Amino acid sequence: MWVEVPWIKPGIREKHYPGMKVLKFGGTSVGTVSSLRNLKAIAGSLSEPAIIVVSALGGLTDQLIATADMAAGGNPEYHQRVQEFTARHFHIINEVVPEERREEVKKEVGALLSNLEDIYTGVSLLEDVSDRTLARIVGFGERMSSLIVAAMLGADHHDSLRFVKTERWFDKNIADRELTDRMIRDEFPLPLQRHAVCGGFISRDRDTAEVTNLGRGGSDYTAALIAAALDAESLEIWTDVNGFMTADPRIISDARVIDRMSFIESMELCSFGAKVIYPPTIYPVFHKNIPIRILNTHNPTAPGTLICDNSDTLPDDVRGVSAVKNCSMVSVEGVGTADVPDLNSRTFNSMARHGIRVFLVAQTQSDEVFSFVTDAKDAPKAKAALESEFAPELQQRKVSSIECVDKLAVIAVVRESIKQITGLGDKLVHAMSADGINVLATSDGASETTVAMVVGADDADRAVATAHAVCFGPNEE
Ligand code: ASP
Ligand code: MG
Repeated sequence: MWVEVPWIKPGIREKHYPGMKVLKFGGTSVGTVSSLRNLKAIAGSLSEPAIIVVSALGGLTDQLIATADMAAGGNPEYHQRVQEFTARHFHIINEVVPEERREEVKKEVGALLSNLEDIYTGVSLLEDVSDRTLARIVGFGERMSSLIVAAMLGADHHDSLRFVKTERWFDKNIADRELTDRMIRDEFPLPLQRHAVCGGFISRDRDTAEVTNLGRGGSDYTAALIAAALDAESLEIWTDVNGFMTADPRIISDARVIDRMSFIESMELCSFGAKVIYPPTIYPVFHKNIPIRILNTHNPTAPGTLICDNSDTLPDDVRGVSAVKNCSMVSVEGVGTADVPDLNSRTFNSMARHGIRVFLVAQTQSDEVFSFVTDAKDAPKAKAALESEFAPELQQRKVSSIECVDKLAVIAVVRESIKQITGLGDKLVHAMSADGINVLATSDGASETTVAMVVGADDADRAVATAHAVCFGPNEE
């Protein structure tokens, strides 16, 4: 049953399981009766049994968190909220689950909801909700939605808590890839006989068995882990937009869908703020060269975006422009690199030890400053870590200070081998200044895929528009 699919890159070959697909449906795709009917039609049109990964009903994860805060604040209204969750799930069960299975599914979902209510009661008695308890609480969403979708499709239900395992990494939970890969292969012997449905996002700690999760938006990642472990032929992410766009359509009215892009380009667009998929999703499938399709549940015949490793054949133009808002720039100032030769490595190691993501190393006007950009929420931690890392140098005045500038955004223009577009960086910076946008720093040119510019947060949308116009022509509106 295994066939060899040649990789695009010469010399490397990888096995793929023919016809085997993993489909992931997000919250808006499972949040209403009508979108669930679309899901059913999509699943019904598949020629081979597939694995279907689902998010919680749209908006539910946020509501589960808000209700936890309510309970922790001593507000008894959480009982009312649980009733509303029950009404919403039962209404959907009544509409989409075949009659003969309805009572059974209501019983299962009802048991989960009563367990959830007990946990809220515990929270309200303690007037406190720990991270661990919150992880248990948010896990209920996918546990319920997956039961409903499995029953709707007459598919096998698989409990993701059994086979997605995490380990602690600093203060985060990250997937234990090796263990999870093995457990996924045990859970889903191939070929599948029927569609299989499981919840995304949820996991268990491999050591303590506590319920954990893969981070907000993590259902995409669950689907990617499954696709990679099983060498699926493709991964389909069914969502509520037609695909990756050349820019956020709320900012650029004539942004268009990108029909094809490479894995690397999608990683860059995602890590620079495109919200279409959860960034870690790309890695597992990229390593196995499994193509990803982004498709719209509400518009299933639209071609969507294909992400695959065929960068040689991709169109020449820029793929897209995106922006990360809520950034801060942390700078180590007053350094001569000769005085502190291991400055870069110590900075990066210190950030790694604190679990802080550095997503842009910026070149400022002078050599005396070494800067990088982080999430605004990590910036105070980054500053404190560097003050302790460079305490001796600060005292000897080899480093004059660690500074932090808030309220910034990073604008990224993405295409593989972007440096081959002669003069693009200059053109962008020039256009920004012509539009009165102050570019505080540009990326240091290490990336082959992105030209990035740091601007003030208030200028972010205008900067996206300017960059989009440089790359794709003026907005038609
Ligand atoms: N339900 C989770 C969230 O809202 C996971 C997901 O939808 O991917 O973040
Ligand atoms: Mg999502």
